[in-house]
Amino acid sequence: MGKKYKVVYDRENCIGAKKCMGIHPKLWKKDSEDKAVLLGGKFDPKTRRFELVIEESRLNDYKESALICPAYVIDVVDAETGKSVLNINPTKPGDKVEVPVLRAHYDSRKEWKMDPKGFFTIKPYPDEQMIRVRYYGEDHALKLSIEGANAEEIYVTLVREKLVSTLEHAAYVGCELMKAEIAMKKNLPYVQDDPLP
Ligand code: SF4
Repeated sequence: MGKKYKVVYDRENCIGAKKCMGIHPKLWKKDSEDKAVLLGGKFDPKTRRFELVIEESRLNDYKESALICPAYVIDVVDAETGKSVLNINPTKPGDKVEVPVLRAHYDSRKEWKMDPKGFFTIKPYPDEQMIRVRYYGEDHALKLSIEGANAEEIYVTLVREKLVSTLEHAAYVGCELMKAEIAMKKNLPYVQDDPLP
């Protein structure tokens, strides 16, 4: 018999971020309060946790669900020893921990560098609920048009297609796409590089 593990889920502290069901919709679903349901899990009234014993073959999927959860309410433990197999030491919301504070700063004249891959222009289309992005190469010629319904699916596509090559550029495009998504959903004017009204 293979090794067994146990998924332990603290529903009371689930914040409904839906990341778990986003990556593993066959393992999790949302309930009427927008919290996650551990499919097949049983509630233990002593610990007030939902628990599910799993085979080793399913370990990775549950570990991924646990590691993507921003509230750290999912744990996966060795069924025999009860020890977590996640190999993390999470600081949970509400924990009081002293850490150094780094003051952010940016001098665009010294630090801005053009991405050798090129650049993008971004425009939301509220009537169609679509964001369109034009990709220009290093020669400033238009190469490709990308469209998507939200910021996340577009920036993941741009990274997957290797259309960005610096971390700063990827972060910039992510911010601009999110602004464009908010403008599209709230019917606000969007001007690239300007703050939203
Ligand atoms: S990712 Fe975590 S907080 Fe979000 S719904 Fe799933 S269990 Fe709840």
